[in-house]
Amino acid sequence: MPSLAQLDQKYVWHPFTQMRDWLRREPVVIVEGKGAVLRDVKGREYLDANASIWTNLHGHRHPKINAAIQRQLKKIAHSSALGFANEPASLLAARLINIAGSNYTTTVKPARESKLRNPKLEKVFFSDDGSTALEVALKLAYEFTRRTRGKKVQPRFLSVDGAYHGDTIGAVSLGHIDLFHKAYGGMLFKTDKVMSPYCYRCPFNKAKPEREDARKYRQCNWECVGLVERKFSAQKKRGNPYAAFIFEPLMQGAAGMIPQPSGWLGQVTELARSHGALLIADEVMTGFGRTGVTCHVDDKAVAGVVKRPAAAKLFATARVGITPDFLCVAKGLTGGYLPMAATLTTQKVFDAFLGKYEEFKSFFHGHSFTGNQLGSAAALASLDILQSTDSVRARAELQKYFHHELQKLWEIPQVGDIRQVGLVAGVELVKDWRTREPFPLASRAGIRVCDAMARRGVLTRPVGNVIVLMPPYCMTQGQLKRVISTLREAIQETA
Ligand code: PMP
Repeated sequence: MPSLAQLDQKYVWHPFTQMRDWLRREPVVIVEGKGAVLRDVKGREYLDANASIWTNLHGHRHPKINAAIQRQLKKIAHSSALGFANEPASLLAARLINIAGSNYTTTVKPARESKLRNPKLEKVFFSDDGSTALEVALKLAYEFTRRTRGKKVQPRFLSVDGAYHGDTIGAVSLGHIDLFHKAYGGMLFKTDKVMSPYCYRCPFNKAKPEREDARKYRQCNWECVGLVERKFSAQKKRGNPYAAFIFEPLMQGAAGMIPQPSGWLGQVTELARSHGALLIADEVMTGFGRTGVTCHVDDKAVAGVVKRPAAAKLFATARVGITPDFLCVAKGLTGGYLPMAATLTTQKVFDAFLGKYEEFKSFFHGHSFTGNQLGSAAALASLDILQSTDSVRARAELQKYFHHELQKLWEIPQVGDIRQVGLVAGVELVKDWRTREPFPLASRAGIRVCDAMARRGVLTRPVGNVIVLMPPYCMTQGQLKRVISTLREAIQETA
């Protein structure tokens, strides 16, 4: 009988993987998980330091989510949303709208960056994963624009350099990572991009490198926002203002964990709105509390929120007082248990698709597993945990501790930038922090560091030369301390 590793190597083609390298060595075969720990077929244990590619929120085999799925299994695993409603999906849609709407009812004053009126999210379209959540928003925005501006209009979309919105053709068209997307250029439709506010490597940032998050010591005049303004104005002059602006709020993920300096998001979304563009927020990575309990680590604010857990903002956009026209969520929606996604939108968009049957104004889009019951049950249980006082408090404390531990990495000369937003951080490796000189991609610095971490029992994946740390919210301080000390050893070993 071949081993599981042999079966994998004989039959499985892994995502985003150079399979020649994969086939050269025995893969880690995960057989179980508990909390923040994964166990492989040989009984070795690992800390799940990237929350199983940014999906897991409360840890593996969480008793409440397990129980919710088991309860649902006793009723039904799946029936179609094409033609039928179901219990957990209806409850989940209402719950998501309620959470997205907490922007209006909360007593905690958001760090409101946008002056323009926010729309209200009132409708939920379910799909399967982050890519499809974006695909739905894109198609809806496209058709909404044609229906409101005229069928002759060819809607154009603007997104951010380095953006990653998924791997389906529409989502790839919105993305701007040449390494991934260039090969498919011939299949894609054209979208425009604006520069990413990547303070650490920004050509407008005049500051010399410091041992601090580059956002804190940047010296610039918001040239990046000026460029966004020029882009919107130029497109307006062409007589076809942008239909939508697509962005990952507060932090771009696959671009290299690039956080936005405070104020950027408010300014650019306001510009987009003032030019009549719809806002499509991709919260596939940032949603469900990942960007933190308050705006950065602020003891007073943390204490305030902990007293009122229901007011803790679960979406990055909500944390800066912005409600987009489309809110795309996936990954953590089910607590990282099952593939499920949702695109939240407004009554106005919904109404544009109403009409007599024979007018064929329906939204012709759907997936077999849309509104799946097991996924919805897991999501409801995950949201119960996420909104509990205990979870809010634990997250606030963990995020503070994370900040504290990350500071220890500054003494390593190969650490150029440490970028933390709530419970996610990117650590950018460089040849020397004084020059910001990057390691050439061919040297695989990020991969080698992650391999050295894996040998020490900590699993994560780099984005180029950026090491991603994304603890499941259940991670203990002791485990998080180990993650960071392991990263430190791994950099020292491979540098
Ligand atoms: N958007 C963002 C911001 C993402 O990080 C990802 C996945 N990493 C996606 C979309 C695509 O999600 P999925 O892999 O579930 O299709």
